Amino acid sequence: MTRSTQSASRKILVTSALPYANGSIHLGHLVEYIQTDIWVRFQKMRGHSCHYVCADDTHGTPVMLRAEKEGITPEQLIARVWQEHFEDFSAFHVNFDHYGSTNSAETREHANAIYNKLRDANLIEKRSIEQYYDPVKQMFLPDRFIKGECPKCHAKDQYGDNCEVCGAAYTTSEVINPYSAVSGAKPVMKASDHYFFKLSAPSCQQFLQQWTKSGTLQAEAANKMQEWLGEAGDNKLTDWDISRDAPYFGFEIPDAPGKYFYVWLDAPVGYMGSFQKLCSAKGINFDDYWKQGSDAELYHFIGKDILYFHALFWPAMLQHAGFRTPTKLFAHGFLTVNGEKMSKSRGTFITAKSYVDHIRNTEYLRYYYASKLNGTMEDLDLSLEDFVAKVNSDLIGKYINIASRCAGFVTKRFNGKLGRMSDSDIAALRTVKYGDALESFGQAITKAEANLYASAIGQKLDGARETIIASRIKIAEFYEARDYSKALRAVMQLAEVANTYVNHFKPWELAKSEKEEDLSRLHEVCTTALNMFKAITTYLSPILPVTASKVGEFLNTDVLTWNSLDCDLLDHTINEYQHLMTRLDPKLIAAMVDANKASLQPAPVPHSQQRHAEAQQHDTSKKENNIMETNNYITIDDFAKVDLRVAKIVNAEHVEGAEKLLKLTLDIGEENPRTVFAGIKSAYDPEQLQGRLTVMVANLAPRKMKFGMSEGMVLAASGDAPGLYILHPDTGAQPGMRIK
Ligand SMILES: [Zn+2]
Repeated sequence: MTRSTQSASRKILVTSALPYANGSIHLGHLVEYIQTDIWVRFQKMRGHSCHYVCADDTHGTPVMLRAEKEGITPEQLIARVWQEHFEDFSAFHVNFDHYGSTNSAETREHANAIYNKLRDANLIEKRSIEQYYDPVKQMFLPDRFIKGECPKCHAKDQYGDNCEVCGAAYTTSEVINPYSAVSGAKPVMKASDHYFFKLSAPSCQQFLQQWTKSGTLQAEAANKMQEWLGEAGDNKLTDWDISRDAPYFGFEIPDAPGKYFYVWLDAPVGYMGSFQKLCSAKGINFDDYWKQGSDAELYHFIGKDILYFHALFWPAMLQHAGFRTPTKLFAHGFLTVNGEKMSKSRGTFITAKSYVDHIRNTEYLRYYYASKLNGTMEDLDLSLEDFVAKVNSDLIGKYINIASRCAGFVTKRFNGKLGRMSDSDIAALRTVKYGDALESFGQAITKAEANLYASAIGQKLDGARETIIASRIKIAEFYEARDYSKALRAVMQLAEVANTYVNHFKPWELAKSEKEEDLSRLHEVCTTALNMFKAITTYLSPILPVTASKVGEFLNTDVLTWNSLDCDLLDHTINEYQHLMTRLDPKLIAAMVDANKASLQPAPVPHSQQRHAEAQQHDTSKKENNIMETNNYITIDDFAKVDLRVAKIVNAEHVEGAEKLLKLTLDIGEENPRTVFAGIKSAYDPEQLQGRLTVMVANLAPRKMKFGMSEGMVLAASGDAPGLYILHPDTGAQPGMRIK
């Protein structure tokens, strides 16, 4: 089933999962984008027609609420985040052919078309369901926006779908004393019509049974799907709710006004939308890649937490809407740092931008991730100490060292010109270029020399003289299988052979000699070593594209491709050697970790259920609401932004139809009193409040509520036990006094 890596030019479309437009790119995200980018660069370098597209995933409740909180439109928010994401990816040399947005005409068109096809195939059903509704905010609440007491361990303030204290999973209806994370109001059950994709239909179940076993998934992933699907005939899959009610930021369903596609319906369609844009710009035929029966290959790189969407919902949608299904899904694990979950308090929740600000060289991280990636769903650990050690020993000590020790002689002694090579040099170079030529190398040099090379790569030349280093073909196979760790092990063996060669012939000693033959030998040795360096650079170029391009300039060649491995640089003028890479200073890492501890931001608006790898990796942030633990300080200037005033409660009354609210009329010394709706009905009778002094936030943006405009907020204290306590100033305070 595996495709030959030697086959003629292939048509390949590659995607990475769409990052959500509600947060910054961090080192956890980058595992996927770097992994994908390396694979795409490898395919392009091999001469295949390979397109890499991605987009920001922009729809859903979290984006809508965050924009509202910031006082901007969702469109403004997603435009700003898009720019940030794009810059982060560029800094890490993740080279998309197109980076779009799901909020595009192309994505809308494909989402509508798929929906219409599914509806025409009787796979869409309308059903009334009951869901929690926030009566204050007047919106249905996703599970993640319900909070309350865990039904198992009774921990307070847990999310509506799982408990972070005891780890229990449950449904929102089981949560004790639920409240809306948006307004704090007690949610009510309310019925509404929803649209379902009938995954339980026999045609879907049969198709997925077959598709998930057809080699499209890694074995681990296929097993997981088997758990969810059950045996043929079990019909374990339930229908998928694909609609959400207004207010919602997304695409309105064509034949259902006020109903929107759930963000997970149109997110993968964003792959198509983004590719469509690329097709328009580059004159590529979209149908060649997406029509059912297409001979192009389609690969999705994803985190293991979104397999469910990509291995069940997405292929079923495509299959029943007349499109091709993915050739393969490549799922990967999560990132841990120093063996633990990324953590804000430990300073290991590191954003892409923070890495760039402190370390600058992003190829170090590309190299490190590559050295750990093996094409499986295992988690990947970034050990910061090992990171420094590996970069310095492999990249600087083994790889760059080859060029830095030879280049100067070529410039100073030979006018910048490479020369010829002896037969034994050619054999040594062949070993490094192809790895499979050590036998002929062994014939061309003395037994002692041959054994020296062999020992450098940990093998003996005696006996069968079997191929002892991974060959060019092997390295290509490792890249193809996304087993970059094996590819790099092989490449680093080749670098050791090259270093052994240089150590053996000691150009620095030859350079001291006055003898003509030593000078000529110096020329041969440097020529050979730099050709070895060229071959190794070629192998590393999918991982180190910037360095490869600098090496191209230095060697004065633009052929660092797989096929140009055969082409040696002889009697060829090169440029003066410039520093290609510096050692990674551990102090930079320490400074980055410190900065990430210091710059803690408040926890982000929680994601809707099961959003991307990020959802998992953000978990740590939610627990850390202890002030000391989070180190979450504000400055005096931040505090001064809040205009707190002493307010006299002139009037307090019940609000018809509101379960938690009282309507307060507050005098703060202005011409007209303010109206504030406060969620304190559970704690106070209106009569108790009249005439009392309290504290209000006077410069809070007015908010339109169902019952009228609320022009501020009164402050109240609450703790773990039930009860709510409004503040009141000491005797003598007057309405309107500023609290500082
Ligand atoms: Zn619990």
